[in-house]
Amino acid sequence: MSEAPTTNGAGATEAPRPSNFVRDIIIQDVAVGKHGGRVHTRFPPEPNGYLHIGHAKSICLNFGLAREFNGKCNLRFDDTNPCKEEVEYVESIERDVRWMGFEWDGLYYASDYFGQLYEWAIELVKQGKAYVCDLTAEQVREYRGTLTEPGKESPYRNRPIEENLDLFTRMKNGEFPDGSRTLRAKIDMASPNLNMRDPVLYRILRASHHRTGDTWCIYPMYDYAHGQSDSLEGITHSICTLEFEDHRPLYEWFIEQLGIFPSRQFEFDRLNLTYTMLSKRRLLQLVQTKVVNGWDDPRMPTLSGIRRRGYTPEALRLFCSRIGVSKTNGIIELGLLEHSLREDLNKRSPRVMAVLRPLKLVIENYPEGQIEQMEAVNNPEDPSAGTRRVEFSRELYIEQEDFRETPPKGYYRLYPGNEVRLRYGYLVRCTGVVKNDAGEVTEVRCTYDPLTKGGNTPDGRKVKSTIHWVSAAHAIDADVRLYENLFLKEDPNDVEPGKDWTDNLNPNSLEVLTGCKMEPGLAGAKAGDGFQFERMGYFCVDPDSTPEKLVFNRTIGLRDTWAKIEKAQKADQKAEKKK
Ligand code: ATP
Ligand code: MG
Repeated sequence: MSEAPTTNGAGATEAPRPSNFVRDIIIQDVAVGKHGGRVHTRFPPEPNGYLHIGHAKSICLNFGLAREFNGKCNLRFDDTNPCKEEVEYVESIERDVRWMGFEWDGLYYASDYFGQLYEWAIELVKQGKAYVCDLTAEQVREYRGTLTEPGKESPYRNRPIEENLDLFTRMKNGEFPDGSRTLRAKIDMASPNLNMRDPVLYRILRASHHRTGDTWCIYPMYDYAHGQSDSLEGITHSICTLEFEDHRPLYEWFIEQLGIFPSRQFEFDRLNLTYTMLSKRRLLQLVQTKVVNGWDDPRMPTLSGIRRRGYTPEALRLFCSRIGVSKTNGIIELGLLEHSLREDLNKRSPRVMAVLRPLKLVIENYPEGQIEQMEAVNNPEDPSAGTRRVEFSRELYIEQEDFRETPPKGYYRLYPGNEVRLRYGYLVRCTGVVKNDAGEVTEVRCTYDPLTKGGNTPDGRKVKSTIHWVSAAHAIDADVRLYENLFLKEDPNDVEPGKDWTDNLNPNSLEVLTGCKMEPGLAGAKAGDGFQFERMGYFCVDPDSTPEKLVFNRTIGLRDTWAKIEKAQKADQKAEKKK
């Protein structure tokens, strides 16, 4: 066999189901018949960027739990901030959720509720629980206090209800300039929880909204809109990431004051991945500064990026089921994601031969003009995929790295005097090379043994290496894009003083190979089609391909670093036990 593994079937044994405390809570709630045993979740992205792998975790959790418990899951666009939101993002989010394999029960926008939210704000004012405050944003911050000091009450806090009603109505009617006033909840300026110190519910902002246009010049804040939107939709389990834990008392406060459907919030750990930046704001920066070629650049951790790269939704779901859900933030090894990807691609990818860095191989004793059709296996993991015919002829291309004029120790591939197997072809023995004026090898010469057709060795003689090839006359040309991690550091946010996270970018994250030689059978491949190039990795067709020239993305190489890590870890554990 060749030195590099051609398959990487990771052990198929399923690990025990990873812990998921949200599922445990739902099981209990259903058991006691809470809300009639109904389960209703929602996935609430803000349409201010493209979804990334972190969102996939939230999607799998929200849609997955709804599916598991015969419940419902809504897709709700959290569009309370008119400045950053765009229709393009809404469309990409819908596409990505569907690609992950989920369909929403209800499709909503927080902006659908602007009218109702306004009514409820009036109600809070009438109850004496909200007031119009004239402090500037900076003053509000100043008055808020700190974790160790209580806040100071706003001088406008005790305005009479009638005055508040009048001012709030006039805020809505556009009588005051942007930022000049806010509506605030009247809770507790001495609360140990900063979110409870009279949070802002509404601000004045003249910005056109992607759905409501210029209807509103006051916009609700996230905290005021989110829980009430959940409540309006009858959401039973509102699942969000841990940074909202401190917002939960406020979430509950609004629901309690308004006496509306009691949705409940649960917080889980945000996904962090090594070598990966999962923040829409920063990903937007990479797009805007053209570090990458758009949101769907195959190096991006966005769902549209990894889709173009050749990731499958199955692989992502497998990964999400493996990482589980917990109440403490951690960092997951990128290797675990890649391991899940390889496991899925190994099962589904047709195998083909493709030479990325071609070197001509001439078989001196093979009859000129003769062509044989060699039988090749399409997918050893899937017998139903059958076989195909691959042309074999006197002149082939092999990989440059599969030949050495002077072999290093342990090198078993082609070198003068050595014999290797051409996969599905014959055994060939290297007889010499042809060089150009610069002394570079331009052609490798060899002879073949006609008795070894299909790579068989009737006399049982051993060859240590099998290499892949394509017939020179039949091969088609293609470009191949090789990708490395976008970041050099395990933690892209780990920056030295005076530096910036962008200093951790990998300047060599993209390498383009041209003139790669491929099996002619690939000619009809379409954008998105995935293959295993034998011995080279998993690749898929990029939409930049034209009828004249295919362009491939390397999805991932074959070497399974995760399997290695796991092996090393197991060895460590064994050693630990012995102690
Ligand atoms: P970002 O910081 O990347 O902009 P966000 O939290 O602001 O992310 P939203 O659009 O508000 O993005 O997120 C929609 C849902 O996805 C939220 O419930 C959020 O908690 C969840 N989510 C976002 N990032 C992650 C992540 N890294 N891991 C798990 N869930 C996430
Ligand atoms: Mg957000």
